[in-house]
Amino acid sequence: MSAPPLKPIVLTFEDARRVVQEQAALIQADNVQTLATEPVDLLAAEGRVLAEPVQADRDIPPFPRSTRDGYAVRSADLSQLPATLDVIGEIKAGEKLDRIPSAVGSGQTVAIMTGAPVPTGPDAVVMVEYTSQSGKQVEITRAVGPGENIVPRGAEAREGAILLERGLRLNEAAIALAASVGKSRLRVYARPRVAVLTTGDEIVDIDATPGPTQIRNSNSYSLAAQIRRAGGEPVLLPVAPDELQGLRRLIEEGLSSDLLLMTGGVSMGRYDLVEQALSEMNADFFFTGAKIQPGRPVVFGKCGAGAAARDGVSTPRASTYFFGLPGNPVSTMVTFELFARPILEALVGESPRKLIFLHARLKKEIRIKTGLKRFLPAILSGEFEHSEVELVAWQGSGDIAAIARANCYIVIPPDRECIAAGEWAAVMMR
Ligand code: AMP
Ligand code: MG
Repeated sequence: MSAPPLKPIVLTFEDARRVVQEQAALIQADNVQTLATEPVDLLAAEGRVLAEPVQADRDIPPFPRSTRDGYAVRSADLSQLPATLDVIGEIKAGEKLDRIPSAVGSGQTVAIMTGAPVPTGPDAVVMVEYTSQSGKQVEITRAVGPGENIVPRGAEAREGAILLERGLRLNEAAIALAASVGKSRLRVYARPRVAVLTTGDEIVDIDATPGPTQIRNSNSYSLAAQIRRAGGEPVLLPVAPDELQGLRRLIEEGLSSDLLLMTGGVSMGRYDLVEQALSEMNADFFFTGAKIQPGRPVVFGKCGAGAAARDGVSTPRASTYFFGLPGNPVSTMVTFELFARPILEALVGESPRKLIFLHARLKKEIRIKTGLKRFLPAILSGEFEHSEVELVAWQGSGDIAAIARANCYIVIPPDRECIAAGEWAAVMMR
């Protein structure tokens, strides 16, 4: 079959991101119907994405809670200072109901501890620091307003309220909240399978001894790490040759996953055959390049019959999204973060997230050609207002040793040819 002519679609970084985000939104709209779910123990839930809302099983707090160690008082009793009140009891955190005084009248108080229930009558708690007790009496030297140092019952959430929404990626705070309402297991979305297909006649498996002109496959391993971190399950395919038939067979295999990531074979070289193979398979291309560096030849599209249903739960999609990521190792890492990650996050069931930038002062001037948005490996040092950033010395986007020394990227807009030392530079963390 002869390939239909390929029309290059080269977008600005912003347009390429917009296209990716639009497709991610389409995936998300279908997620409740399409994605498989599974239960997970709370201790293993970090980083997973909630497939069910989590509700408050009772009012939070379930009783008016003292936030201080001190004395529960009627605030009106403290209009004259110092005030002396009768201490009629003590309430510690977790106190049994029958040991809590049923009424605390005017002129009376109870000693109370942080986290203990405030009894009926008092409307505030005076911190112990402003009191001195002797025998059954306490002298108080500081007034309190009504409600001070008490969290009313249900003020944080009402019974039945939704505390965590479906689509939330679980972090320690969400896990604490789930624990507080007794959810020892949560229903999360199953990890999508992401096929990783690296291409190139020069690439050998890492267990093999490379010949003098061969190199080991590192991209499949960096991608597997990035896929895992985003919540996917990497499936490494054999290295594809720079030859159409073999390449096509492996692409077809990869398209049966939830997402296909290819690396290499998307540049202008005579043996860069990924786009041709996909176009012979009637793929739709959203873009075949972005005005960025590294990563300019990045390809995004969708193709084929879609991922097979798993476990009889998930519904097959009509087609599978794919990325052709440039083969240079730094380009592969950067283009995954910028373009593949949002699609994978959508397939993981997560609600959309934005890229986060921070700013740091540039240590040394940067001079660069205009026309491309750059994401250059850099080292961020210092903290807060003392943060500083500088480029790592590198030999270009094939330099894995340089990217391993870096801890961030300096982002340079396409119209800047010089950023002076001391200027604020935009930094994307990795
Ligand atoms: P390509 O995009 O196929 O032109 O490859 C660009 C550069 O990246 C070449 O120097 C390749 O040898 C290198 N490369 C391609 N795939 C890999 C890989 N899986 N691991 C490490 N380097 C690679
Ligand atoms: Mg190649």
